[in-house]
Amino acid sequence: MAHPKRQHSRQRQRKRRTHYGASVPSFALCSQCKGSILPHRVCPFCGYYKGQPVIEIKQKEAAEKS
Ligand SMILES: [Zn+2]
Repeated sequence: MAHPKRQHSRQRQRKRRTHYGASVPSFALCSQCKGSILPHRVCPFCGYYKGQPVIEIKQKEAAEKS
């Protein structure tokens, strides 16, 4: 098994980890209800995708939770 000859310095470790940052997720605006949604996915608020209704949103559950 490959084995490190010597310990990496903290500078080298920190330089490697500069690329580990989390990226901000991209979002799009729903063409139907103008809500912020994930792109290429059915809108979770109105159930529309590409201007057409795809799924029905159960509003009773949303009313009970809130
Ligand atoms: Zn929508």
